[in-house]
Amino acid sequence: MRQTIIAGNWKMNASKEAVNTLLLGVLKGMMDVKSEVIVCVPYPYLCQAEALTTHSQLKIGAQNLNINISGAFTGEVSADMIKDFGVEYVIVGHSERRSLYGETNKIVARKVQVALDNGLTPLLCIGELLEEKESGNTKNAVARQINAVIERVGIESFKGVIIAYEPVWAIGTGITATPQQAQDTHAYIRELLAQNDENIAQSTSILYGGSMNPDNVDELIACKDIDGGLIGGASLKPDDFLRICKAG
Ligand code: PEP
Repeated sequence: MRQTIIAGNWKMNASKEAVNTLLLGVLKGMMDVKSEVIVCVPYPYLCQAEALTTHSQLKIGAQNLNINISGAFTGEVSADMIKDFGVEYVIVGHSERRSLYGETNKIVARKVQVALDNGLTPLLCIGELLEEKESGNTKNAVARQINAVIERVGIESFKGVIIAYEPVWAIGTGITATPQQAQDTHAYIRELLAQNDENIAQSTSILYGGSMNPDNVDELIACKDIDGGLIGGASLKPDDFLRICKAG
């Protein structure tokens, strides 16, 4: 039985004050939340977020990492540094990083490897572009993304990976995949894993992301192969985020 996981992705939104308000707002309502809950905050707030959530059920994640561990990489942050804050999770391969910062499937696969090698759990984001969906290429796109990572780290390593299926056309658009569309792709992703190892396919958590909100979370999470959500916009509203967390 896979535990429901709800992860928030604040993207580049926060301030010292907002971190307090948002995290304390969520922490206040966590007592009846059964899901595992992770909030991925911008780097400068990792320390503050970790301090506020120590010994709580709320876990903190970063949103990216560099493929190197140290050295002359101005402006970059390594897995080691993220780990230094006691952080356990990191988003890898978010569609905004793929489209705005040129992260290819190969780079994303290397980032997954670096995260795993350094004791972080990667939240590996995959998902098709609108053109790929419209041309009937959703399965090809997600297969390329997943297979690049399997080739790099091996299927066994997926014991330490959380997958987030995020159709790019649904991210931040208010358009959500229908439960059937999402379930079909989640089942296909699980099948891709099963082609390599059936047990790992059954134990890997596959979250849905893309305009998930309090109104659509129940029917998405009710789908057999949807194990939770990666939430952008709604994670910036503590009441909405808590409602989503309670759906699990
Ligand atoms: C995301 O950025 O990962 C995301 C799913 O955003 P939103 O929920 O706003 O669509």
